Amino acid sequence: MATLLEGRKIASEIKERIKNEVSGLKQKTGKTPVLVALSVGQNAASGVYIKSQGRVAEELGIAYRLVSLKEGISEKDLIAEIRKLNSDLLVHGIIIQTPLPKEINLHEAVAAVSAGKDAEGMHPENLGKLLLGCSKIAPCTALGCMELLRAYQIKLYGKEVVIVGHSEIVGKPLSLMLVKEFATTTVCHIATSEAHKLQDHVSRAEILIVAVGKANLIKGDWIKEGAVVIDVGINRVGDKLVGDVEFEAAEKRAAFITPVPGGVGPLTVTMLMQNTLELFKQSLK
Ligand code: NAP
Repeated sequence: MATLLEGRKIASEIKERIKNEVSGLKQKTGKTPVLVALSVGQNAASGVYIKSQGRVAEELGIAYRLVSLKEGISEKDLIAEIRKLNSDLLVHGIIIQTPLPKEINLHEAVAAVSAGKDAEGMHPENLGKLLLGCSKIAPCTALGCMELLRAYQIKLYGKEVVIVGHSEIVGKPLSLMLVKEFATTTVCHIATSEAHKLQDHVSRAEILIVAVGKANLIKGDWIKEGAVVIDVGINRVGDKLVGDVEFEAAEKRAAFITPVPGGVGPLTVTMLMQNTLELFKQSLK
């Protein structure tokens, strides 16, 4: 039976470290990190995320402010709001809550955030630095997966790693982080499934990371014996939250596996706070 990769426990340890550092910097400088969340219209999913961001920020001594903009706001006006926050010296981190209304181009909005206030690690300049291997700010969920691997001392050098899902927030940045650690990294996506090659790739993975958003896409008997399985997916099935991997069957074959919920999720919001702290420290220099 696999050992659980307990994201909640690891997140608590990292939060303790952030909290102490925030408190130390406050004593030294009299300043507090400020994270601003920009949200457009109402959305149930982002509502849940906003609540959890506010709660964790408060726990860590980071000031959290929500700026709610009306549903019909134009891209131009949203960018004007972002620029106001960019020039506000009392704001250290900015996060744009998604999804945005479809009339607004997310890439344009994210690029309008100053790279020095990009708490999500999604600004093109920060993603460019990630490619060059010199970034301190990076996408939160991908960072969370790396923290989990590090906390459980899972060796990456020369390992066969398979990522399923190539989104901009998870699969793509994670592939860069893993290659930097000399993991042999394969990225699968919809075309892999359509070519009926997903099982082949998954079953040779020593480390498997899945971020798709389809319940039970990965069958338990595809998992290589002794593999490490990180399931980023969150899917509601009836009244339960499940990942993308068939958990019960997979945990019998894997050496390590994340629970869902309680795996990567708690680390994502923690990494948002870690990015905010880093941006705050950069602003003090
Ligand atoms: P996304 O942007 O929709 O990306 C999903 C990816 O999966 C795409 O690359 C897509 O490929 C690929 N895909 C879709 N169907 C596939 C299939 N049958 N076989 C192989 N690949 C397939 O999603 P996301 O934002 O990365 O989120 C993925 C999941 O992670 C969701 O369940 C989300 O809720 C969860 N999530 C969790 C956290 C957390 O903190 N735990 C954070 C972020 C996301 P194509 O683009 O080529 O179609």
